Amino acid sequence: MSRILILPGDGIGPEIVEQAVNVLQCFQSYGLSIEIEHGLIGGAGYDQTGSPLPEQTLQLARASDAILLGAVGGPQYDSVPRHLRPEQGLLDIRGQLNLFANLRPALLYSQLAEASSLKPELVADLDLLIVRELTGGIYFGQPRANEKIDGVRRAYNTMVYDENEIRRIAHVAFKAAQKRDKRLCSIDKANVLEVSLLWRTVMDEVHSEYADVELSHMYVDNAAMQLVRAPKQFDVMVTSNLFGDILSDAAAMLTGSIGMLPSASLNEHNFGMYEPIHGSAPDIAGQGIANPLATILSVAMMLRYSLDQQEAADILEQAVIATLRSGFRTQDIAKSDEAAVSTVQIGEAVIERLQTLLTA
Ligand code: NAD
Repeated sequence: MSRILILPGDGIGPEIVEQAVNVLQCFQSYGLSIEIEHGLIGGAGYDQTGSPLPEQTLQLARASDAILLGAVGGPQYDSVPRHLRPEQGLLDIRGQLNLFANLRPALLYSQLAEASSLKPELVADLDLLIVRELTGGIYFGQPRANEKIDGVRRAYNTMVYDENEIRRIAHVAFKAAQKRDKRLCSIDKANVLEVSLLWRTVMDEVHSEYADVELSHMYVDNAAMQLVRAPKQFDVMVTSNLFGDILSDAAAMLTGSIGMLPSASLNEHNFGMYEPIHGSAPDIAGQGIANPLATILSVAMMLRYSLDQQEAADILEQAVIATLRSGFRTQDIAKSDEAAVSTVQIGEAVIERLQTLLTA
């Protein structure tokens, strides 16, 4: 029995998560052994308990096998002190659970190729995965300071990784590549940075344990160029916190729709928190028009990476593709001449197709 904690959060979070929970319950009715619990995070946690990450949520999280999160944040929290802001709850839970590996697929369904800013033939059927180190590197490195010396202002940060941090993200990336096309490209700046030289050396060392995966290396400036020139050349990319932050946003935009992209943040025991990459979209919250597919696809990632249900994950992704093929579009992915359906309608369409696939 796997315990799944649901954290709907704020804005459109509860609306999109409701559709994803329906998907989980559908699998449950077909024999998947799961127990579903709910908790508070972000603004919802702050409003009800005074904390964006209530202690009870943390306890539930530690006792669970996987977490599904909607989104956090909203303009009503802009004047709240930084340490009590909704986004802090998210950073805290990632840190508390040591979720050091961030997996962000950029997948473009051929039906939506025109939504991309690139030519459709460059991005149709794009399917790449970026594995980003999430708890180390320059965002956390010491020393860091913003100071004034002899009247001159200066500031600095430190990009630092030890070999253990590199090795554990390498294992996550190689294992992810094994579940896909078995090609891993490690991104660094080894022509300039010592930290990148160590990164590259450790990647090569870990490679000896994954003979079935092809490993290549690329400098980050070239990788940024290649992502917009010929993104389909990549299968899995692995990189540090800073480079991954930038490259994963660029890769997300290749797909043209923020409402379609899931993500996972994992620790070394395959425990993970799964969430759409978008935020709480306060501009459309409560209107019933948000796209729940990124959250539903986050459930597919949960099935694949934390619950070891590869086949169920594939079936769910097929159900989403079948839904798009049938012409269902929320407003964010509909062309100007296409009618848009509601959050609930597209969620129901996925469930219908999922049931058909599960009984086939
Ligand atoms: P956003 O991702 O919430 O919204 C950007 C734009 O995309 C908006 O126009 C929104 O309507 C649209 N959009 C986003 N998700 C959509 C969906 N599922 N369906 C249809 N349209 C969708 O980013 P933002 O406006 O910069 O931030 C809003 C709030 O979300 C802020 O408080 C921010 O801090 C927070 N945020 C949270 C997370 C998270 O929870 N992981 C991530 C990013 C931003």
